[in-house]
This record gives sequence, structure tokens and C-alpha cells, in this order.
Amino acid sequence: MSEEKKAKISIIVPCFNEQEVLPLFLEKVTEVMKSMGHPYELLFIDDGSKDRTLGLLQEWAEQDEQVKYLTFSRNFGKEAAMYAGLCNASGDYVAVMDADLQDPPELLPQMVRILEEEDYDCVATCRETRKGEPPVRSWFAKKFYQIMNRISDADIRDGARDYRLMKRKMVDAIVRMTEYNRFSKGIFGWVGFRTYWLPYGNVERAAGQSKWSFWKLFRYALEGFINFSHVPLSIASWFGFFMTGLAFVMLVFIVVRKLLFGDPVAGWASTICVIIFIGGIQLFCTGVMGQYIAKIYSETKNRPHYIVADSNLDDVKQG
Ligand code: UDP
Ligand code: MG
Repeated sequence: MSEEKKAKISIIVPCFNEQEVLPLFLEKVTEVMKSMGHPYELLFIDDGSKDRTLGLLQEWAEQDEQVKYLTFSRNFGKEAAMYAGLCNASGDYVAVMDADLQDPPELLPQMVRILEEEDYDCVATCRETRKGEPPVRSWFAKKFYQIMNRISDADIRDGARDYRLMKRKMVDAIVRMTEYNRFSKGIFGWVGFRTYWLPYGNVERAAGQSKWSFWKLFRYALEGFINFSHVPLSIASWFGFFMTGLAFVMLVFIVVRKLLFGDPVAGWASTICVIIFIGGIQLFCTGVMGQYIAKIYSETKNRPHYIVADSNLDDVKQG
């Protein structure tokens, strides 16, 4: 290696009740980082854990100056934790990595090499397969990516993980996106930059429990649609357009029938069906609009994304 100063690497680790897996994680990641010989920091974001997560972090921070932590005043969610990490990371290269070792630290040397030697600004990982995941979950996930790519302008890859290593300029761009309703997969795609996709085999969680229930994931997917696409809003206009056309044709039909055959009263049941059908569509469309209005409401309140209760960083950026 030359005399050239090596780039500092920050690793952001959102943690929510991860006491079982954190010791394993720390050991593994420290081993990998030491072997690379770059200056580094491990920035743990304790997202309001109720277990011993914070205690462990404080203990390690005293023994190892590479260990930095931020702790939130309550659980703000992984998105807020990642944002807090990106705002407070000081490295030239910044990685986001889950605490459960589903994002293998062994990939880091290769990722760093790609950023240093090739003309990329970011190395993102995606899963090769969805092996070991419930089939229903996989099906919904696949559909989500298909629809998302069709209706939004943020390019999101199927199986993309949040695990990625980015250059400083990309991190700065992401930090400038201050929206309250954050959907990182969309944000990463939206800011652009040259991204290298690195596939790897699915890894099971090393210990502890996943914090994502099916419904939490489902809501996360809806969040993605609403934050990165306006297509659902135009559904109402399309329904309206179609219905008006249909009504016009029916009107012509009824007038002609009246002129030719008189007007025997019939079709009460079908009339009710049509009324209910149209009522349903109207409610659905109002609901879609309501979702967007709710987003506008939470954005305009301008609340902070997270509140830091404690940290061993000298200068903590609240945000
Ligand atoms: N996480 C978090 N806040 C939350 C939920 C999760 O910081 O409210 C963290 C969690 O500690 C882990 C990462 O986000 O490091 C991914 O969570 P998990 O492994 O539960 O998700 P999965 O891998 O099942 O998608
Ligand atoms: Mg996980």
C-alpha cells in the first residue's frame, strides 16, 4: 500500500432490542475492519431498545474508541435510525448494516475495493434468492417491486437490501432529503449516482427475533408507493373518466329504448348494484386521497425525525 491516506469508513448500525446478537456482531465486524486497516468508526443507533442493548454499547464504548453510539428517547423506527446515522457519520465512506449479521461484514473489503478502484459512488447489495422466507411474503415482495418500478421514478431493485457502502457525496445528498416520511429504498434510488449491485446468498438472522411482522411490511410497502408515486392519486380520475363514459352510453341506450318501446319499470336490483359499486369506488378514491393528505399533514408539522437522549459523540446532530 502507498503512503496515501486511507479513507475513513463509518458503519451505521440501527439496533432495536438486539442484546442477543450484538456481541457476535461486534466481534465479527471488528475483525473485518481491523483486517482492512482503514480508520473506521462503528456508529450504533439504539432505537429506544427496552433490553440491555444500550448498556452493552456504553460498556464497549469505554473500552474501544471506535465504538460510538446514539440513543433515542423512544423507538422511532429503522428509517429514523438510519437517518440519524447518516447525519452523524463522519467517514469518507459510509455503510448501513443491520445488527443481526444478515448483512455479512465479510463483504466489506470487496465493497471498499469497488469504490476505490472502479468508477462507482455506491455499492449496494441485493439478495440472490429469497430462500428461507415464507412463500406468501416472497410473493408480496416480488409484486411490490414490480408495481413500484412501474409507477415511480425511483429505481428499486428486487431483493435490494438497505446494506450498502456509499461515498461522502451520496451521503450528503441523502442527508439533504429531509422528508419526514422516509422510505430509504426509494431515497437511495432517487438521489441517483453510479451504483454497483452486489448479489449475495440469503443469510438467516444470527440470533434474536425479526421486528417485522407481515402487516408492518405491508404498511411499509404502502408507504413506498405513496412516498414515491402519484399514480394512486390518478386512479380516481381514471375511474371517474371511465364511469362518465359508461354513464353516457347507458343514457343513450335508455333514451332510445324509451322512444322505441315505451318505459316498463324494471331492473331495481341492478340499479342498487350500480349504486353500491359506484359508492365503493368513490370511498376507495377518497381513501387514497386521504393517505396523501395524511402524509402532507405529517410533513407540514415539521417534527424532528428522531430525538437523541444520550450519546458519546462530541457534537450530536439532532434531526
Ligand atoms: N430496527 C430498528 N428499529 C426498529 C426495527 C428494527 O432499528 O424499529 C433494526 C434492527 O435492530 C436491525 C435492523 O433494523 O438491526 C433490521 O431489523 P430486522 O432484522 O428485525 O428486520 P428484517 O431483517 O427481518 O427485515
Ligand atoms: Mg434482519
